[in-house]
Amino acid sequence: MSDCIFCKIINKEIPATIIYEDDRFVAFKDINPIDKVHFLIIPKTHEENLLTAKNDLATREMFGEMLMLAPKLAKKEGLEGFRTMINSGVKGGQEVFHIHFHVYGGSDHLRKI
Ligand code: 5GP
Ligand code: ZN
Repeated sequence: MSDCIFCKIINKEIPATIIYEDDRFVAFKDINPIDKVHFLIIPKTHEENLLTAKNDLATREMFGEMLMLAPKLAKKEGLEGFRTMINSGVKGGQEVFHIHFHVYGGSDHLRKI
């Protein structure tokens, strides 16, 4: 998607602090962190969100792999525990319509939800 900022980060058209990349995913630091450590994991294929994603085997496998990058990268970033968040749709607080898993932690005052 040519007007998608996360596709632009994947294509290195705009800069980001990339902490991980493979053939299917990229993870980079959130520009406006809500915790000491806050990064986003995205697929290289443009997918809007969980509301519009296909529920087929390939998509489920992709999201499973994406989620399992969270503990690996959180540990790499020095976290012993972390929180994940996936905002879906405008009414779910989503602002960038390229699906991303937020991973954050590091503070010792996590609010119980
Ligand atoms: P959403 O509200 O869509 O779940 O989250 C979008 C996130 O992307 C926000 O936390 C925001 O700070 C982050 N973000 C938006 N634009 C950029 C950008 O250009 N670079 C980086 N690194 N993060 C961005
Ligand atoms: Zn995109």
